[in-house]
Amino acid sequence: MPKCPKCEKEIDCLTYECEEISTYIVRLSPSGERLEWERVDSETLENPDIYTCPECGEEIAHHYSEAVAFLKQKQNQTA
Ligand SMILES: [Zn+2]
Repeated sequence: MPKCPKCEKEIDCLTYECEEISTYIVRLSPSGERLEWERVDSETLENPDIYTCPECGEEIAHHYSEAVAFLKQKQNQTA
């Protein structure tokens, strides 16, 4: 399993955060007293490609291919 270069914990996944624009349909609830929100669509905005360690939150990769390369590390060497 690859190790985080920052906290040195073994990790088998990375964290990726992105911003989205969500579209909701908003209706009156059956009681007529409040609104009900139903998400019908979401669009991912352009985001920097940043992958972080799920343990310490430090940046590990800046690109899709870097994230792949990191997660592939030592894949065949685990005893
Ligand atoms: Zn870490």
